[in-house]
Amino acid sequence: MADWSNMMRDFVDEIAASVAMIRRDERGQFVVSACNDHFMRMTGGRRSAIKSFPAPFDSLIPNYARTEFRKKLTQCFESGVARELEQAYDLRDGTHWWRLSLKPIRHAESGVSVLEIMVTGLEITTKMLLTHELEVSTSRFRSVVDAAYDAIITIDQQHCITLFNRAAENLFGYSAEEMLGQPITDLLPERYRGNHSQYVHQFARSPVRSRQMDERNRVYGLHRDGSLLPVEIAISKINVGGLIEFTAVIRDIADRVRLMDLLQKQAVTDELTGLPNRREFADTVEQLLEADKTLSVFILDIDYFKKINDSYGHDIGDEVLRVLAKVVMNSDRPIGVFARWGGEEFVAALPELDIDQATAVAEELRQTIEQQDFEHTWRLGKPVPFTVSIGVTERLPDEHDFGAIVKRADVALYRAKDSGRNRVEVG
Ligand code: GH3
Ligand code: MG
Ligand code: MG
Repeated sequence: MADWSNMMRDFVDEIAASVAMIRRDERGQFVVSACNDHFMRMTGGRRSAIKSFPAPFDSLIPNYARTEFRKKLTQCFESGVARELEQAYDLRDGTHWWRLSLKPIRHAESGVSVLEIMVTGLEITTKMLLTHELEVSTSRFRSVVDAAYDAIITIDQQHCITLFNRAAENLFGYSAEEMLGQPITDLLPERYRGNHSQYVHQFARSPVRSRQMDERNRVYGLHRDGSLLPVEIAISKINVGGLIEFTAVIRDIADRVRLMDLLQKQAVTDELTGLPNRREFADTVEQLLEADKTLSVFILDIDYFKKINDSYGHDIGDEVLRVLAKVVMNSDRPIGVFARWGGEEFVAALPELDIDQATAVAEELRQTIEQQDFEHTWRLGKPVPFTVSIGVTERLPDEHDFGAIVKRADVALYRAKDSGRNRVEVG
């Protein structure tokens, strides 16, 4: 019998299980009737501190673990059903986690039926540490994802949304709750939807793991309110247990697009008058010259503009330049392209008008200005009279040299100046 129980103890010690038998004494208090060394080690007790068995429960179980342990023991005694309990014991070398199983055992002792609880414990510290590490890294991941400035969205193999961070909520106007499980195509403008799933399949098969989506073209998302969102998208894929998950990091570039549009506009616009500038005019006419079509050009110069500046001041000079731009832009007879050439000189391109038609347009404009036949409230409180001289020319058959055309118009303009100004001359 002794051999068998030694064998049993060696075996139990081998598997590092803690074992104890707990019963109630005659006053109903829990007492430990026997336990192995692992149980002592688990609770941090010392065998020398135990005078004899049965030993009081409190002498073996540290203060902080008692209440919970006792509660389970009571339940076990009262129900006669096995229970489980996970407990942490703070020892000198750190915290150790144990899973305890409490099993009621009824046996006869000197002819009396006694109920005891067999407590067996297995250490689960490694598992708890791993779980804890996982929790830490999961919560770190969550907070990074949620604090991210960019929208982050993941989709599963079926292209349904599995993650939708806070920036995504702000960008698209949907809550994560609404979007989880929904197809990603809900966030795409209509015209991209058809090809999207093929695009994702292609990416799934390609050897690259991450890349920028469509680097050449502007990419748009679809806001809840139906508006288009200019975005920049980086996509990546990961293999999760054989299934491919896709992640898109989406940056809202509306501000950048607005700025780029503004800069682009500024680069081709004359600040004072809002008209196209010289470079924009040259580009447009070069394009028009590519087609072999009728085209006329004129150059307009304000007469004695220096005098206007000298008599009324530079601000009024500026006002004259703006008035001239306004008159042309509001004219009933639209001029193809009207631009500021520089200073008080302007240029016009009149597609599909021959020299006679273009001259008529120039003459009409000259008269409108001379007669101040337009609405304008002058800052001076009275009109500032001014006139213009214009040199008109027509593109020659097969002519593609923009410079030569402008030169001819300029020569005609000088002839108009020489002939007394406030005139239209043809070159
Ligand atoms: P002409 O009849 O021969 O063309 O004489 P003009 O005085 O108009 O010509 P000139 O070339 O002698 O003078 C042009 C003036 O235009 C000189 C310059 O100070 C003025 N000017 C150029 N750009 C601006 C501008 O943006 N605002 C104002 N107020 N004046 C300008
Ligand atoms: Mg001039
Ligand atoms: Mg002038």
